[in-house]
Amino acid sequence: MKYLKPEFEREDFHCPFCGVYTHQIWGDILENASIDGSGWHHMPNFKGALCNKCKEISIWKDGKLIYPDNPNMPPPNEDLQEEIKLDYNEAASIVEKSPRAAAALLRLAIEKLCKKQLKEEGKDLDECIGSLVKNGLPIQIKEALDVVRVIGNESVHPGEINLNDNKDVAYKLFELVNIIAQDRITQPKEVSKLYKSLPQKKLDGIDKRDKK
Ligand SMILES: [Zn+2]
Repeated sequence: MKYLKPEFEREDFHCPFCGVYTHQIWGDILENASIDGSGWHHMPNFKGALCNKCKEISIWKDGKLIYPDNPNMPPPNEDLQEEIKLDYNEAASIVEKSPRAAAALLRLAIEKLCKKQLKEEGKDLDECIGSLVKNGLPIQIKEALDVVRVIGNESVHPGEINLNDNKDVAYKLFELVNIIAQDRITQPKEVSKLYKSLPQKKLDGIDKRDKK
């Protein structure tokens, strides 16, 4: 499903905490400034939205989301391994404050995706990307990967932080993690599901044709 970013007073969106598309319950935020706890005040500029799924409350001021920090990130691809999803979400939570740290985490996520999940050969990210291309990764994705890999970054060891990473690179890397997952995992899976849903007679026909 398409990612629906959190929007003020909208009833359903992808939760900025858990990433699930779900119902949000909006309410006023009260403040208690008195020492004896007697005086509760409305905070007229503030509103909160309670996620129906994870029960976390996002906080909005003057119609703008102020907590959590970085809500406008699409969630990680569903088919990614849990460990990679965690790296992705952690990077999303810090990208505004430290794009370099986020970029380092995302490079690590891409390397894990290539080596562990897709079982590509290669001693580093560069070689893994080469192996991905050999196995059918579209050249456009490879070029985008090369750009973010090379910008200010000659060494791509996992976890290494490079001084020249900027926010644009970090944001591009989020996109790339999901694009690779979509291209290498989700799409083939869906095509194979579609294929298997054909009636056996048709499948036999295709089989015969391919054997000719
Ligand atoms: Zn949630």
